[in-house]
Amino acid sequence: MSKKKILVTGGCGYIGSHTIIEMLMQTDFEVVSIDSLINSSIHTLERIRQITGKSIKNYQTDLCNLAEVEKVFDENTDFVGIIHFAALKSVPDSVAQPLHYYHNNINSLLNLLKCCAKYGVNNFIFSSSCSVYGNVAKLPVNEQTPLSIAESPYAYTKQIGENIIKDFIKNQAQTKAIALRYFNPVGAHTSGLNGENPINKPTSLVPVITQTAIGIIKEMSVFGEDYDTRDGSCVRDYIHVTDIAEAHIKALAYLLEGKNEANYEVINLGTGNGVTVLEAIHAFEKVSGVKLNYKMKGRRDGDVAAIYSDTTMSEQKLGWKTSIGIEEMMSSAWKWQQLLKDEQAK
Ligand code: UDP
Repeated sequence: MSKKKILVTGGCGYIGSHTIIEMLMQTDFEVVSIDSLINSSIHTLERIRQITGKSIKNYQTDLCNLAEVEKVFDENTDFVGIIHFAALKSVPDSVAQPLHYYHNNINSLLNLLKCCAKYGVNNFIFSSSCSVYGNVAKLPVNEQTPLSIAESPYAYTKQIGENIIKDFIKNQAQTKAIALRYFNPVGAHTSGLNGENPINKPTSLVPVITQTAIGIIKEMSVFGEDYDTRDGSCVRDYIHVTDIAEAHIKALAYLLEGKNEANYEVINLGTGNGVTVLEAIHAFEKVSGVKLNYKMKGRRDGDVAAIYSDTTMSEQKLGWKTSIGIEEMMSSAWKWQQLLKDEQAK
């Protein structure tokens, strides 16, 4: 029997590539990627091969170009599922360039869903984000928590994206979808051979930390010291990228085996633990032995004060929970940053 073929969009990106690695290591799926490489590198395919011993095909296609996306589906009429990672994901960049974010994140999703309908692909997993919850009154956040106003254009693209999928599914008798609301994915593959490699200046905390430790960033900022949290800095639920990758494999199996309770479901992916920015910095300093040069600064536009996940639903529905803690998140990220430096020095 031929292998089930899965389309992963954003397969050269951070979470996409880690998910592909786990799919190739743990499952019998054939994986095909679409990645335009606007914020990722083609070298990621080599890293995937190095870690897994297997190669995958990437189409360097812009998902906003429907005709080009259809060409990929014409060549692969046997996709059974799609995991849609490809998106712009920086909160501050989205505040600076809202139209770019709306254009990219919404059009790419619309085109993929059009292809789901046209080519009969019935299983869809969407990368959503805890940012859809906005500022919440009660923690931890569970899937019934009402969504409040999105704090950034990025967060709004995820809210809109979820609604688009929900409406689409209502008219498609066969199609099932899950929106996975990630909390804060961080860290790198434990081999240190694959990790986040932002082409642009990083804005996420952990790459900023590792680039500061290695000297690329001279001084990092901690945004906000007067939040109502245990040390005044923001609280987030950092989750190791390989744990997130595992959750996608479970979610795919859940859909393919027809275990879904409804045709559209949302599931949080978090550890259940809130960590402050300062605690994250200190965890990094502990495992790396490097003192970080940081300064307390004012609040960053678009940030919520505190957010962490209730993990009940992911445990019950997917039989999944995280296994990697904050120190290993930091040590893997550090190992990866050092490898990048060695490669750049060559
Ligand atoms: N952060 C920070 N300095 C930085 C980058 C991020 O203090 O250089 C803080 C940010 O304000 C937030 C937390 O780290 O409180 C996580 O930010 P990130 O951009 O990684 O993820 P977000 O939660 O915004 O998606």
